[in-house]
Amino acid sequence: MASSRLERVEESATMKAANVANKMRQEGIDIISFTLGEPDFDTPKHICDAAADAMYRGETHYAPGAGVPALRSAIAEKLCTENKLDASASDIIVTPGAKQAIFEIMMSVLDDNDEAVLFDPAWVSYDPAIKFAGANTTWVPTDPENGFKPIDLEEYINERTKLIVVNSPGNPTGAVYDKKTLQNIADIAIDNDILVLSDEIYEKIIYDQKHQSIGSFEGMQDRTITVNGFSKAYAMTGWRLGYVHARSDIIKGMLKIQSHSVSSATSFVQYGGIAALEGPQEPVTEMVDRFKARRDLLVDGLNALDIKCQKPGGAFYAFADVSAYGDGNVVTEKLLKDAHVAVTPGSAFGESGKDFIRISYATSLERIQEGLERIKAALA
Ligand code: PLP
Repeated sequence: MASSRLERVEESATMKAANVANKMRQEGIDIISFTLGEPDFDTPKHICDAAADAMYRGETHYAPGAGVPALRSAIAEKLCTENKLDASASDIIVTPGAKQAIFEIMMSVLDDNDEAVLFDPAWVSYDPAIKFAGANTTWVPTDPENGFKPIDLEEYINERTKLIVVNSPGNPTGAVYDKKTLQNIADIAIDNDILVLSDEIYEKIIYDQKHQSIGSFEGMQDRTITVNGFSKAYAMTGWRLGYVHARSDIIKGMLKIQSHSVSSATSFVQYGGIAALEGPQEPVTEMVDRFKARRDLLVDGLNALDIKCQKPGGAFYAFADVSAYGDGNVVTEKLLKDAHVAVTPGSAFGESGKDFIRISYATSLERIQEGLERIKAALA
């Protein structure tokens, strides 16, 4: 019998969509999958070498709970220079992935019946993490015509609001918030004494804008919990490596959870993380250039089919309005059945996503082109 804690949450809808596609593939059907939440590139070699070297030199024992000191220092250095945070190694915890970090943060800062704000649509795992912690999610609408910026945020704030989650560049929309939008969120957080969880996992997969960290805004240092990781920027999803910068009481709380659960991120993996941060960054720029060409092909192709989609400023997802053809769930099923094209229904990410589908372009230009042709034929 499942616990009530477990019954508060649903199975991951993105995983479900990917599993259906995988099953069809195993049956021999040529599925074009636009469901992937990970770069289709391999981890750069110098990162693999650094982790392998560490393993062979014996870095195979338990690592310190908060992370290997050299990695924490490299992260602090990166956050100071790139993100303009006032970061020191002692305010950083290394985690087995950003997802685990987010789970630990929710468990550390939320109490029963607290409220945490998500902008609708939002990445699938925030809401379950909030619910596991016993708190409730307040969904704030966003404007798809205006870069999925939150609408009337202040109206949704009350005395129980403890946390606002910001994710720019964002999953599922690819939206990148400009300085004015982030400042508005920061002002509301400060005026109402609310924490901000800033999930910056896609910060390096950004096309025409510059990434800005809300934690660097005046008055935000102590109330921002900055989450990041190596999965997307360095194509390291399977390594499970992420990190958090926050004020020391929050880091201490997370460390308590980590020490009684996963203990630490894997020891030798953390040396790969140091190489990622301190080594050449060309593989990141090359990957981003290739994502940009794919984005342009996909988004232009979708708009030509009357599937409305603004050009996302970051990440590797297009969030497209399919209402000309039916609701997002119906179109997702039709595309899988008639075109053998797998996408994720927008409803997986919140109420507002019901007319949308999420298309991940972490796949080759050739597959995107073929996918567009199949979509066109299926919807004709
Ligand atoms: N945050 C967002 C917005 C994501 O899309 C993902 C992965 O899909 C994560 C966090 C989790 O990243 P990690 O692989 O570091 O757990």
